[in-house]
Amino acid sequence: MRGSQEAFEEISPADFFYRNRDIAGFQNPSRAIYSTVRELVENSLDACESIGVPPDIRIQISEENVQTPEGVGTYRIRVEDNGAGVPREHIPQAFGQILYGSKYRLKQLRGTFGLGGKMSILYAEITTNKPAKIVSSTGGSKIHDYELMIDIQANKPKIIRHRALSNSKRWRGTIVELMTQGDYARAQSKILEYLKQTAIVVPYADITCTDPEGVVHRFERATSTMPKLPTEALPHPQGMNVEGLKRIIAVTKTTTLIDFMTAHFQRVGETTAKRFLAYANMNSRKNPKKLSADEVVQLANAMATFDGFISPDASCLSPLGEKLLEAGIRKQLEPEFVAVVQRKPSSYSGFPFIVEVGLAYGGKIPPTGGVSLYRFANKIPLLFDEASDVSRKVINELVNWRQYKVTPETPAAAFVHIASLKIPYKTVGKEFIADRPEVEREILFGLREAGRRLSVYLSRRIHMEHEKRRLEVFEKYLPQIAAFATKLAKKKTEPDIKPLLKDVAKHGYEDAED
Ligand code: ADP
Ligand code: MG
Repeated sequence: MRGSQEAFEEISPADFFYRNRDIAGFQNPSRAIYSTVRELVENSLDACESIGVPPDIRIQISEENVQTPEGVGTYRIRVEDNGAGVPREHIPQAFGQILYGSKYRLKQLRGTFGLGGKMSILYAEITTNKPAKIVSSTGGSKIHDYELMIDIQANKPKIIRHRALSNSKRWRGTIVELMTQGDYARAQSKILEYLKQTAIVVPYADITCTDPEGVVHRFERATSTMPKLPTEALPHPQGMNVEGLKRIIAVTKTTTLIDFMTAHFQRVGETTAKRFLAYANMNSRKNPKKLSADEVVQLANAMATFDGFISPDASCLSPLGEKLLEAGIRKQLEPEFVAVVQRKPSSYSGFPFIVEVGLAYGGKIPPTGGVSLYRFANKIPLLFDEASDVSRKVINELVNWRQYKVTPETPAAAFVHIASLKIPYKTVGKEFIADRPEVEREILFGLREAGRRLSVYLSRRIHMEHEKRRLEVFEKYLPQIAAFATKLAKKKTEPDIKPLLKDVAKHGYEDAED
């Protein structure tokens, strides 16, 4: 039937995320305050790492009004960093326009879509109707101080106030402050756990969090050494698709397919390009701008199936490295023993990834009736949905822990960090990683190697304990035997048993070395 009453309209990206805030981690006041802290902290960490500065992050959460009986209140959240700062001309959009950002690049960063920090601002605005305050400087002569809101229907920043202050001390960094609704009481343990795990995976950060009660939670840096910064990469042909290819064709200055391949893709030299174009059944002298729609599809499909490309370059990644991961684990959990393994770069669908694992024993690790698990992706702790994560599956189903002398009573913890341009999250919630076979295998091999080292340590430890008990028996009975023997022989002075005990102990250690 024609002339229906349906009304059509368009909604903006901000409006979309306003209506679907649950998919960005803002489904209720408890999760919202957790996500707010997390997103602001992650922006700060990215901003410091982008200029190679060890992060100093100050978080302040204060309660602004009395809580409702359900435990929901209004909180002022302030996060300050010593990062790159935001150039003045980008401040309004960086904080007031959804899907605007500086991280749409082929290198490892925490932020991806130009969404997270702004979701915190959007949620604050729809729950308290107050603007966000942004103070930032890139270290020049001015500090810019903005109060802004997001015009949700237009997806545009609405500047309430702007001042430029003089920056005589050349301060560099960013402060974001907002008033938001939240359920801090319910979120507190997750927020603190998040910070503790961030301190493990970013051991070169100094983080201070003052909670609504005024209690200061300090996470001091264990080192100021930072991992190698990632460099931006060209795309790998295997990760291409039709749309990606069309975009490159639109901007390319090359005039032949062979030049096109070597100029726009990583690790494609002339020989590889020639072989590939022959495989794709394409004329290498053809102008890429003259490809028909079907030929673009043909080229994209050939890229996905050709097996002669060199595997993706991992310099766009910034893994932590064995030393730093160990430093983070030692600082936060003070274990008796740690084994850390960084696997060689691997890849899936044209995207490189590196798996790093740690296995720790004793110290502050509580016995939990199994191996406890700490998961990280691109230096972000993952705290939710552990049961569905690939690392849980590997630990529960694929590693034979008894082989490594780990029993359910052993206080052991596993750490799994995946660094990748494309973390295979299973859902948009970004809380757990899918069991892609390539990733699963790397985690398994890493844990096995760490497991072997742990088992060497544990066998030695078990042996030493056995020896200690043996020695205790001698220590207890030798003096009595000596006294008894002295009496029996009707002698006055007892023989010196110290050399004897020493001898027993020495033999014990010699055995342990075997
Ligand atoms: P994303 O982090 O995914 O890009 P956000 O909405 O969290 O999206 O942030 C948008 C942009 O604002 C970032 O890409 C970055 O350029 C800038 N930005 C946000 N917070 C900071 C900060 N603390 N320091 C420097 N730049 C920041
Ligand atoms: Mg972000």
